[in-house]
Amino acid sequence: ESQLNPNYNFENFIEGDSNRLARSASMAVSNKPGGTSFNPLLIYGGVGLGKTHLGQAIGVRIKERYPEKTVLYISAEKFTQQFIDSVKANTRNDFIHFYQMIDVLIVDDVQFLSGKSGTQDVFFHIFNHLHQNGKQVILTSDKAPVDMQDIEQRLLSRFKWGLSAELVAPDFETRVSILQSKMFRDGVEIPEEIVEYIAKNIKTNVRELEGVLISLIAQASFNRKEFTLSLTKQIVDKFVKNTKKEVSIDYIQKVVSKYFEMDVTTLQSKTRKRHIVQARQLAMYFAKRMTKASLASIGSQIGSRDHATVLHACKTVDNLTETDKQFRKYVDELTKKLTF
Ligand code: ADP
Ligand code: MG
Repeated sequence: ESQLNPNYNFENFIEGDSNRLARSASMAVSNKPGGTSFNPLLIYGGVGLGKTHLGQAIGVRIKERYPEKTVLYISAEKFTQQFIDSVKANTRNDFIHFYQMIDVLIVDDVQFLSGKSGTQDVFFHIFNHLHQNGKQVILTSDKAPVDMQDIEQRLLSRFKWGLSAELVAPDFETRVSILQSKMFRDGVEIPEEIVEYIAKNIKTNVRELEGVLISLIAQASFNRKEFTLSLTKQIVDKFVKNTKKEVSIDYIQKVVSKYFEMDVTTLQSKTRKRHIVQARQLAMYFAKRMTKASLASIGSQIGSRDHATVLHACKTVDNLTETDKQFRKYVDELTKKLTF
């Protein structure tokens, strides 16, 4: 099972200034896997900018050109889960051997490995084996290597060996082209004025761009309506409101306190009571995951703690989510509350 999805390919990936380097490096790697200096190729950037699409497109293209090669696409999260399972089942060596046999390994969202030292360790060994044998590794991440936290130095330095290419938000023309190509694929025609309205208002996330288009097509056909500007505005408004509901550290503290039925002041207090400490650690963990604030700034806003305390909180939460089912449930439920 290669986990490749042929719907993500280079043909339907629209080129623009925002992705030119990442796209051309991806194509170079697809044409000569393991044979360029782009090894590993690391593609990084924000949510919905095409990291998974490009990672998949590389795999799909290599499989077309080199059917004999073993290509595997996997999310870092799934990789972690497989590793944990293999440890439990006493099949750690099989796990490692399986990965060492692969010709092209694509690991999506490597930031997920942060704080997971056991998984990082095994990945380090797999990476070295593949690299030494001229096999191609492709990584994606929501951060540049310099900004990755809780990833071991030796692994980070490997990430920087090849090429790191950033994906940024597409400019207006590229957003219009992306919309047009999706319309063409779906065989719908939408007035230019409406396409431009969408492109003007949805700026930072291609997935949202698609979301508006899908919604618009669905609603227009369901109601047998024309594609009107007023319907478009309604839909765009919904999306824009969602993104504007930016998560602040204050908001995170409110949601976490409410979830554990305590006041924000209790959550920030100096007490060592276990359930309060846990709530505070969770607030710090989400602040790090969902905001751009530094560890020091998170610490000062959540009960005047220092950056080391925040770092420790993040590690503790990571460890507990891996080992403690109840705790995992807290994290999952809080994630839902914070993201909707
Ligand atoms: P990420 O992994 O960075 O969060 P994805 O790769 O899942 O983002 O992309 C989000 C959606 O936007 C996907 O459906 C993808 O096909 C689409 N997309 C992103 N960039 C482009 C592009 N340049 N051209 C066409 N579609 C794109
Ligand atoms: Mg992705």
